[in-house]
Amino acid sequence: MRPLIAGNWKMHGLTAQLRDIETISATVHSRSPAADVLICLPATLLSKAAYTAAGRIAIGGEDCHAEVSGAFTGDISADMLKDAGAAAVIVGHSERRKYHGETDAMVAAKARAAYRSGLSTIVCIGETEAQYSAGNRLAVCGEQIAGSVPAELARSGTLAIAYEPLWAIGSGHVPTHDQIAQVHGHIRKCLMELAGTAGAEMRILYGGSVTSDNAHEILGLANVDGVLIGGASLLAVDFDAVLRTLLLRA
Ligand code: PEP
Repeated sequence: MRPLIAGNWKMHGLTAQLRDIETISATVHSRSPAADVLICLPATLLSKAAYTAAGRIAIGGEDCHAEVSGAFTGDISADMLKDAGAAAVIVGHSERRKYHGETDAMVAAKARAAYRSGLSTIVCIGETEAQYSAGNRLAVCGEQIAGSVPAELARSGTLAIAYEPLWAIGSGHVPTHDQIAQVHGHIRKCLMELAGTAGAEMRILYGGSVTSDNAHEILGLANVDGVLIGGASLLAVDFDAVLRTLLLRA
C-alpha cells in the first residue's frame, strides 16, 4: 500500500509559515517520495496553502462540524474546508476528544459529513496512559473503531485510521515496535470485521512522537501504512527529513 505521510499543525502557523508548505511541496515535486503527502492546517491558512502547494501535496483541515451549515458560531463545515482547497480532514483527534468533549458518535457524524463533502478522512483513535497501563489498549481501540468509524465509510475507500496513543503525542515516548505492530494488527482485524475486504485496504497510520529518527522503522512495521506527525511537521526541515526516510525505502 502506498503510505500516507500526514502532518498536523494543530493551532500553529501564520501566513509566514507558508514558506514551509512551499519547501515541502518543492521537495515532493523534485524527489517524488513513494508516498502521498498531506498537511492538515488551521482553517485560516487553507486556501493560501492550497494555492502554494499547487497540487504537489494535499492540504487538509483539522476538524469539521457534522452539519452542512447553521447557527454554530466559530465552527467550520466540511463543505467550507473543501471550498477553501482542502482535500482531507482529521476527525476525532485526541485533543478534540479531550478539550471539546467529542464522543465516538460525534466523531462518526463528522466523518459522515466529511464524506458527503468529498473529503478524505483520517479518524484518530488511541488509548490514554491509564488505559495503556491497565493493559486495555486493544479493547479501547476496538471500541473506538466500533463507535467512530461508520461501516459504510469504511467501504468507501476514502477513510484512514490514525492510531495515536495519547501518552505518545508530543511526549517523545513511542510504543515499542512490537506494541505498534500488535495494535495495528488488531485495528486491521476490527476493520475487516467492519468492512470485509475493504478493511484490508484501509490505511492505518501511526501517530505519536514520529520524527526522522524513528519514521523509517515504524513505516516498515506490519499494517503501518503511514504516519501522522504533529511537532515534526511544523518545520519543513523536519518534515522533509521524514520524507527522506521514504527515499531510503524506495
Ligand atoms: C498529533 O498531534 O497528532 C501528533 C502525533 O503529535 P506529535 O507528532 O507531536 O506527537
